[in-house]
Amino acid sequence: MTVKIKFVDILRATLGFRTGNESWIGVSPDSNCYHIVSPVDTQISKGVMACNRPTDGTPFGGYRGWVYLRIPPFFDGVPDAESARRDHAVKVSQELIKKLDRYGILSSVERENCHPRKIQTVNNNALVEQNLSCSSCNKTWKKLVDCVKDLDLMFLAYHPCVSDFVEGSYVFQHGCKGLVYIPVSRFIRRSNEGKNLANFNACPGYCYYNDSIQECRASCEGSPYRRLARRLYEKVSDRRKRIQ
Ligand SMILES: [Zn+2]
Repeated sequence: MTVKIKFVDILRATLGFRTGNESWIGVSPDSNCYHIVSPVDTQISKGVMACNRPTDGTPFGGYRGWVYLRIPPFFDGVPDAESARRDHAVKVSQELIKKLDRYGILSSVERENCHPRKIQTVNNNALVEQNLSCSSCNKTWKKLVDCVKDLDLMFLAYHPCVSDFVEGSYVFQHGCKGLVYIPVSRFIRRSNEGKNLANFNACPGYCYYNDSIQECRASCEGSPYRRLARRLYEKVSDRRKRIQ
């Protein structure tokens, strides 16, 4: 089996030096799927490369038995950083194919946006399947509108996925204290509001925190998801005020 890696995923995972972060890619041993781990603090990453791996063999909360390879940052101190990033991502793609081959994993990097895929993210949000259910009491909601209207559900957090905003989640807390992860894609179709500006100078970096509900003014494709997070949060606050 050949793992088909989307170039756009590598491109987005190619971070600037100045961010102090970098990314890793994890590939399943059966070459069936991959996921991007980003951003990873460069210092932590150095520890991993020095073989200070977590004892369970899962760097950065990745999966046991998967192969993890580093996606090094690019030098972003140049006038045309976007071109530099793209050139760097092309080189990284070629290197990745060679390195994976050494692990006996066949891979290809796909330039076209024609392969349906599911990126898995490590903050376990996208891993939760599409049905809307409570992680604790297993209550399920058939429709999104039922969730939003349910007075027992409180908006808790927005978990962005900076490598692909469509893969993020809104997290609600159920009355039983269990969590309900709702993919942002259930609320908003893919945004066409600019490109992904994560890690660029225009990016205020809110999306690197799972507990931030700050709105973002950057013309980034991630901004609409943050605006909605804010609205969901305020709606809940209003509701609480009314109840008190
Ligand atoms: Zn529950």
